[in-house]
Amino acid sequence: MGQILVTGGAGYIGAHTAKRLNAAGLETVVLDNLATGHRDFARWGAFIQGDVGDQALLDRLFSSRTIEAVIHFAAASQVGESVREPLAYYQNNVGGTLALLNAMQRHKVDTLVFSSSCAVYGPPFDGLLTEDHPCQPISPYARTKRMMEDVMQDMARASGLKYTALRYFNAAGADPEAEIGERHNPETHLIPLVLQVALGQRQRLEIFGDDYPTPDGTAIRDYIHVQDLADAHIQALRHLQNGGESGAINLGNGQGHSVRQVIDAACNVTGRDIPVRMAPRRPGDSPRLVGDATKARALLGWQPAYADINDILATAWAWHKKETLAAPHR
Ligand code: UDP
Repeated sequence: MGQILVTGGAGYIGAHTAKRLNAAGLETVVLDNLATGHRDFARWGAFIQGDVGDQALLDRLFSSRTIEAVIHFAAASQVGESVREPLAYYQNNVGGTLALLNAMQRHKVDTLVFSSSCAVYGPPFDGLLTEDHPCQPISPYARTKRMMEDVMQDMARASGLKYTALRYFNAAGADPEAEIGERHNPETHLIPLVLQVALGQRQRLEIFGDDYPTPDGTAIRDYIHVQDLADAHIQALRHLQNGGESGAINLGNGQGHSVRQVIDAACNVTGRDIPVRMAPRRPGDSPRLVGDATKARALLGWQPAYADINDILATAWAWHKKETLAAPHR
């Protein structure tokens, strides 16, 4: 058995996946340039610091090891930043993935699990999004993901690439053993920000818009536990290795929670006050994104273990408390 190359394995979802791959007895090598990843998150399997767009490095890596399959997380992932710096996003996300696909082709590695996003869907929709919903990405970030899905689909037809593009809804929570969790700098995501307010590290949370066409006026998202996401990558690998069909697969819980519902649940889980202030809508935000994961259940046998938002928040809270004790000024 060869190794699984995990690009971006020092990042939030990548590190959780590397941990679960090792727990399942699979050997991993993490490739991460540490631009947004953390060295202390890459603690399972081998680690190489480097860029996924570095062809010479990829050649050395694929020549010196037996790589059986690739899970590709390495990418920039801030929607707002992608609007301000589109070229950097196309270079990093499209350029990096093309370099990786080239190296895989040169070294005859044909199995790839790719991090995609529910941000590829559009226009806004009130129901559950299925994989055949139209894709009209509105941000450069989401366009990079959609473009790569098209490239992989064409390569699957032309050269037999076997791929799964996993379209994540909102990754949330932390490793139930609290060894790794969500650490971004700057932090822009709702749940870590809410918990930083609960910890007294921020004065209040700004709610970006309460005039959406939703029951309480705040935007609705489908929060999915990061370990459930991690496990889906392992199931996607097995699916491809067993001859399963290539394509895009949603990973969501099928349940929407509004910003206000997340804050209320966080108050319950933490037992702390979470002061809020209303703020304007954030450009590019959709009113509602909730996924239908019927295909993931049917094709991968995927079954989320942490479907309840309170359980998701409890794992995130345990990690954030531990992280604050370890590095109060991080
Ligand atoms: N949000 C908010 N205040 C914040 C951060 C996020 O109201 O300080 C809202 C955001 O507008 C969205 C939801 O929380 O409706 C989830 O945002 P996040 O950035 O976590 O994930 P996204 O859905 O943008 O990928």
